Amino acid sequence: MDSPRLLLDAHLDISMNAMEFNRDQRSTLETIRRTELITPDDGLPHRQRNTVCFPELRRGRFGIIVATQIARYAPRFHNLPGWRSPEQAWAHTQGQLAYYRAMEECGELVQLRTAAQLEAHAALWQNASAEEAAKLPIGYLLSLEGADSILSWRHLEKSRADGLIALGPVHYGPGIYGHGTDDAGPLPAKGRELLTEMERLGLILDVTHLCDESFWDALGHFHGAVWASHHNCRALANWNRQLADDQIKALIDRGAVIGMAFDAIMMVHGWAHRRSQPQDFGLKIEKICEHIDHICQLAGNARHVGIGSDLDGGFGTEQTPMDLDSIADLARLSPLLAARGYSAADIEGILSGNFLRFLREHLG
Ligand SMILES: [Zn+2]
Repeated sequence: MDSPRLLLDAHLDISMNAMEFNRDQRSTLETIRRTELITPDDGLPHRQRNTVCFPELRRGRFGIIVATQIARYAPRFHNLPGWRSPEQAWAHTQGQLAYYRAMEECGELVQLRTAAQLEAHAALWQNASAEEAAKLPIGYLLSLEGADSILSWRHLEKSRADGLIALGPVHYGPGIYGHGTDDAGPLPAKGRELLTEMERLGLILDVTHLCDESFWDALGHFHGAVWASHHNCRALANWNRQLADDQIKALIDRGAVIGMAFDAIMMVHGWAHRRSQPQDFGLKIEKICEHIDHICQLAGNARHVGIGSDLDGGFGTEQTPMDLDSIADLARLSPLLAARGYSAADIEGILSGNFLRFLREHLG
């Protein structure tokens, strides 16, 4: 069957790749890989293995993406990289925003803030031929992964005014506003205050990266819209980074959509970071269909799952399915899901329609 004409990716770190890994997102994959040949060795195993850039997003018909700002606060002796002060983290996210603005100015990106803008942009892509799609701007919605950079509620208000639509309070390890992946603990008072302010400003709560205890605290304290932008199933990849079944059920009850990530470490049991290879697991794109199935079985329908590929989240083809060289290869999901008996309407929902419906309901 034909792939839908519009795909939506709910989690890409476009600015991080541009600003920290020095990738001009307008270049082809080949150009980015080739120019990284002359980059001094910076110890990043994903060098020359990137799978995301604007031309490939267009080829894969990813006409709408959720694009992040991300910066961690890491006091001295922290075992994760990060800024020594929240003020530096704030400044870093503002630089990332400046990159998105520059890409808007040259017509590569267009920011989507309202349901009406989303609707119009979706229609543009749904009606475009492949030739036309190659020239269309990519619509992006702004999100923040980890809230360490939010210095005050005034800064949160400024971010909202800049078009921020979703926020994940934490990333890996401990954060100012809660406990993230591989960490443990309840939501602190500051985290609860953050949720109150987010609710006041109409921001979506992204539960991805919340540790289990903070996850349940957050769901209890927050009454607005909730999603999990890039988050697979713990039943199929046993690590706290993934969602346990009771968490998936609670998210379904809240009307959430869960974005499927294509980071190998989140797709299979027993991946050893920087040691395992996709070949060790015979890992292919099709594996994600098991995660999709798992959520659909828990929901009793196919309305709560989408794509949140995370394909530029600090890894490349050394940590993706063997049959994925570019994000455009996700077009293969259509026939894979059809072969499992998913209807055309279900497939369209998974590839874009479910997140579109969610955003239509929750954007002003
Ligand atoms: Zn992440």
